[in-house]
Amino acid sequence: MPKILIVAPNWIGDALLAQPLFARLRKKLPGAVIDALAPAWTAPVLRRMPEIDEVVDAPFDHGELALAARWRLGRGLRSRRYDKAIVLPNTFKSALVPFFANIPLRCGFLGEARYGLLNLVHKLDAKRSPLMAERYAQLAEEPGTNAAQPLPQTGLAVGEVNLAAALRRLGLSRAKPVVAFCPGAEYGPSKRWPAPHFAALARKLAAQGYAVWLFGSEKDRAVGEEIAAESEGGATNLCGRTDLASAIDLLSLAEVVVSNDSGLMHVAAGVGRPVVALYGSSSPEHTPPLARSHRIVRTGIECSPCFARECPLGHFKCMKELAPERVMEEIAAVRRAA
Ligand code: SF4
Repeated sequence: MPKILIVAPNWIGDALLAQPLFARLRKKLPGAVIDALAPAWTAPVLRRMPEIDEVVDAPFDHGELALAARWRLGRGLRSRRYDKAIVLPNTFKSALVPFFANIPLRCGFLGEARYGLLNLVHKLDAKRSPLMAERYAQLAEEPGTNAAQPLPQTGLAVGEVNLAAALRRLGLSRAKPVVAFCPGAEYGPSKRWPAPHFAALARKLAAQGYAVWLFGSEKDRAVGEEIAAESEGGATNLCGRTDLASAIDLLSLAEVVVSNDSGLMHVAAGVGRPVVALYGSSSPEHTPPLARSHRIVRTGIECSPCFARECPLGHFKCMKELAPERVMEEIAAVRRAA
């Protein structure tokens, strides 16, 4: 049976968007070994994907070349005798480990002129494959063939033991129905719905009997505190208090997840929860959540999407003018559709 090493994306959201590729490989090659090479910050989501056998640690920082370390890792992987590597990031450095590991077939898009590093090169037709998930899934097929449609349904496994431990450790009750908020966005402030809007939404939901849990990393702890304080007891700040594995498990309990365009938005979709996705400076065209039930909420303002990390016009109307009342309506709509 073939042994495949996938060089996984460096972003949590992209790792989720790659899951249809893994599912397609699993369907085509049921007995194959499919391992993923991934950094520590995306490894927890890959470990929850039933298609992946083993996650191999890629001990490199974002953007770090680390040539000698990549050579050592590649050399160390030679004994595993992989038949094929599929390289998902488009960077030159991401194709080095499979090359150093002497993996005979090394597949991916050309990306940063990876002549020689890759020897099974796919051509990207951005018009025919607008979705990032389709582009990744294309790599399961022969070059020149588009991704098989429809993309397979995928999902993350939930760890029941870890979930129970997280509930206990964080003192969380399941007595009330839960709405989860993901108020962070690693990319920058222009993707973040304002904290006072999240707080106003939390107050409305609390008045209807919901518990609101806030999810995010340590970097989001401060905004989580601000939302919790302004919510007048309506929201519980879990930002920085869960690891990613516990966030996956706890998000699985939410009736609805309200999220900025972020990695956690894709995680929420991965655990099958209805998602209300708030878009400002970015576009849902390429990377919408793969949720069975989701609503995209945006103002459609003329300057959007600008893809800037901070609002270049200073007014930030794309997010400020998305009123909590509108998001409340979208929550009701996504619940009806779920
Ligand atoms: S320029 Fe427009 S789309 Fe970009 S952040 Fe400002 S308001 Fe939003």
